[in-house]
Amino acid sequence: MSPKDLENLQHEVASLAKRQGDLEDVVLEVMERREAAQERVTELTGRVESVQAKVNDALSRRDAATVVIDDEVATVTKEREVVAASIPADLIKLYDKLRAQSGGVGAARLYQRRCEGCQLELNITEVNEVRAAAADAVVRCENCRRILVRTPESGL
Ligand SMILES: [Zn+2]
Repeated sequence: MSPKDLENLQHEVASLAKRQGDLEDVVLEVMERREAAQERVTELTGRVESVQAKVNDALSRRDAATVVIDDEVATVTKEREVVAASIPADLIKLYDKLRAQSGGVGAARLYQRRCEGCQLELNITEVNEVRAAAADAVVRCENCRRILVRTPESGL
């Protein structure tokens, strides 16, 4: 081997040793990143499980509430049928019509001269008309047209 060849060979060996060192650094860095990624996966998996448990809890509470609400709807519907049977048919018909037109509220309490359906206070003329109406007359709010339910707190 010529001195030139030997020099080349030593140079190549040094170069390969440096390359090996560089590659070992890369492997080390990749392993560290892999470990960090694995920790993140574990953390996120835990969070997903925690959120899923909360979702499951909310769903079961919703389902339980739905059962209670359905029972209440059935009870109230039966009660309404009983009450409706005791009210004159033409009044029920008017009430149902107003209810459909007025967002589900066909009748409202008259409280301290204010219609609790539209929240407007009756003017003095309207108050006098309601005051003059027979106790069993159907009186309506001039503003929202709902049936006004008179009570001792109506302010008449
Ligand atoms: Zn009204």
